Amino acid sequence: MAHMLIGGEQVGSVSGNTYQVCNPATGEVVDSVPKGTAADVQQAVAAAEQAFVALGETSAEDRGAALFDACERIKANAAEIAQLLTAEQGKTLFEANLEIHHLVHGLEFYAGLASKVRGSYVPLPQKGAYGLVVRQPIGVCGAIVPWNFPLTLMGTKVGPALAAGNSIIVKPASTTPLATLRIVQLIQEATYAGGNKQLPPGAVNVVTGPGSDVGEELLKNPRVPRIAFTGSTEVGRHVMSVAAPLIKRVTLELGGSDPMIVCADADVETAAKNADVGRFFNCGQMCLGVKRVFVHESVYDAFVAQLKGILEKKTVGPGTERSSRMGPLHLASQREEIESQVEDARGRGATVLVGGQRPASDGLTNGNFYLPTLIENAPQDARVVREEVFGPVLPVFRFADLDQAIDMANDTIYGLGGSIWTRDLVAANRAIDKLQVGNIWVNSLHYGYDELPFGGVKASGLGREHGPEALDYYLESKGVVIAGLS
Ligand code: NAP
Ligand code: MG
Repeated sequence: MAHMLIGGEQVGSVSGNTYQVCNPATGEVVDSVPKGTAADVQQAVAAAEQAFVALGETSAEDRGAALFDACERIKANAAEIAQLLTAEQGKTLFEANLEIHHLVHGLEFYAGLASKVRGSYVPLPQKGAYGLVVRQPIGVCGAIVPWNFPLTLMGTKVGPALAAGNSIIVKPASTTPLATLRIVQLIQEATYAGGNKQLPPGAVNVVTGPGSDVGEELLKNPRVPRIAFTGSTEVGRHVMSVAAPLIKRVTLELGGSDPMIVCADADVETAAKNADVGRFFNCGQMCLGVKRVFVHESVYDAFVAQLKGILEKKTVGPGTERSSRMGPLHLASQREEIESQVEDARGRGATVLVGGQRPASDGLTNGNFYLPTLIENAPQDARVVREEVFGPVLPVFRFADLDQAIDMANDTIYGLGGSIWTRDLVAANRAIDKLQVGNIWVNSLHYGYDELPFGGVKASGLGREHGPEALDYYLESKGVVIAGLS
């Protein structure tokens, strides 16, 4: 059985209760973990408060060194962690290894930034006085993480939090706690000062258990002044409403329905390949995935034929099989949701060009498998257009005029990312200007670079992760006046 990590110790839950983590490809039990409640969160808060005080004695360079060492430890254990991630999440081993690579890249980014946080000197109108802006960590942070990228989305919170000198409590999704527990253990074990020192116990904690208990207590506990949430827009609204009366600092990374616009002059083959990766990587369970494609009528048939060819060849199977190019959906309920969204589109007159069903193979019946699916002629009121589709389903649309495509692209509550494929600088600039999203890619894959601020507008969220910008959300600016100098 796996344990939680509180105050540097591997512990069970206060209640003694546990629950099972199952493999989405086989239905088999992978391991059991403690089923935490508010009492476990309260213990973690006490440990994290002590660690926060102790972190005040560390230098930024020390914390950076500890994070760099943690990355070495993660790389040395990557093969084992990838197996665990595939077993609990369902993604292919190839995808699991990429996720670990991205996690390390992100942690190293903040390890390097730790010692580069700057305040400022401010001249004041008063004689014999000057001002300073001092930047201080906030305290105990809570990180609530979803199951689609359990490791990178934990790293985007733990990295900047520790770099800035905060302690943090991680609440992984109930269904993906295992690889997270391994990674956080490695971060706590990391050393600096020539191998002689470690981060204080409780600098990073993990409490496993349901959102309705563990997550809720993190939100309600007044001793956790900062919440970083990634997940659905529905739960994000709840997070904000609970945090509001407590004036907690929140960042919300929520759902998306990213448009991809393919113009008449685009390199259609490259665009189709990127639509495939952008939509079907991680079995389509990506916040910033390509979720609607708008293709200029002059290249529509060529684009659809190209993408159809790629999808028809895609092998669906367990993430541990070398031949698998796409694993199962993470949850059975998720697959049912996808099926009802596709049925809704069919019922409204859409045509399913590829997939639209479960794979026929006998070996896959115990897993949550679904074929990569391409849909055309879905009307604007179809659920695959109006809602976030969190699985391997892509609706494709034709357009005649770029402004029409941009209007359709913006006709959603979401605003996470969007891409345009064109060699025309004026068209690209129009999309950069007019698309209501937090991130735009021109002739490039929908991908969250560690170097750039990442986040949404509209119902896709609040605040930014990644980039030096993310550090701002883990620091408070304190204005200081020094007077009486003349
Ligand atoms: P979710 O249902 O919102 O869950 C996210 C996290 O919130 C989980 O750890 C969940 O715990 C927890 N939670 C649930 N109820 C809670 C409550 N009452 N109080 C506090 N925490 C609570 O999201 P999901 O289904 O795991 O993930 C898919 C969604 O995440 C999609 O909408 C996707 O677009 C979005 N996402 C966004 C980004 C981004 O950066 N913008 C990145 C990835 C994913 P349990 O697992 O125990 O329920
Ligand atoms: Mg959920």
